[in-house]
Amino acid sequence: GPVIRLDAVQKSFSLPNGEVFDAVRSVSLDIAQGDVFGLIGTSGAGKSTLLRLINLLERPDAGRVLVGGRDLTQLSRSELRDMRQNIGMVFQQFNLLQNASVFDNVAFALKIHGKHSRNEIDARVRECLALVGLAEKIDTYPAQLSGGQKQRVAIARALAPRPQVLLCDEPTSALDTETTRALLQTLRDINEKIGVTIVIVTHELSVVELLCRQVAIMEHGRVVERFAVDSASDAP
Ligand code: ADP
Ligand code: ADP
Repeated sequence: GPVIRLDAVQKSFSLPNGEVFDAVRSVSLDIAQGDVFGLIGTSGAGKSTLLRLINLLERPDAGRVLVGGRDLTQLSRSELRDMRQNIGMVFQQFNLLQNASVFDNVAFALKIHGKHSRNEIDARVRECLALVGLAEKIDTYPAQLSGGQKQRVAIARALAPRPQVLLCDEPTSALDTETTRALLQTLRDINEKIGVTIVIVTHELSVVELLCRQVAIMEHGRVVERFAVDSASDAP
């Protein structure tokens, strides 16, 4: 089955004025294992809320969210911990630890999880930095890196626990055009090399055209269109 399944998912927020705002309205969506999936729409369409429902930061008011066939609302504590390792997340502003080395940033989630030996953590960090082309930066600090390099470290950090799914929320919005193209190429290479499913939220159509094989368009909390991108087989 699909690696991500949203089944009639509903999410509302209570506003300070007492009104209820429907951020996600009855969204049903299947995302196949190994896909590169773009979620596009104007600001306020509900894209980030949808990602937060997938990565366990929000609970749906109604409907179901399944990752790897598991209903996220039905997980035990230990299953929840494992599921967090199964869903990697990349943000617009990188969210790196400024006082930690690149090594420690990438090792962070593995150390938190507490199930990996020192040798395994070391090997994973090197492997993931190699995937993003930053092996030689292992002992540097975020302040020494360009924006594109910081985002590569963030991608390596997200991949270190070997997740099935990599969720990217506006990952190139803080980057210039050239850096964006290079980063999107790297994401595609990673998808091809290790098969991780990539879901990318963006307001830029050019980003999904360069990267994605499947696209869904959101408007006012609903998925209003879904299509396959033919040109995704051409190198960007
Ligand atoms: P997008 O990512 O497409 O820009 P969001 O999912 O961030 O859209 O937001 C959708 C709508 O939900 C926005 O109008 C936003 O103001 C509202 N919203 C999101 N999170 C909250 C929250 N925690 N409380 C109240 N309103 C929220
Ligand atoms: P902890 O204090 O969490 O046990 P370690 O003993 O694993 O951390 O490592 C001590 C420090 O050595 C880490 O903070 C990290 O910065 C550095 N370090 C460990 N392994 C490597 C490595 N392969 N490359 C670069 N730095 C490393």
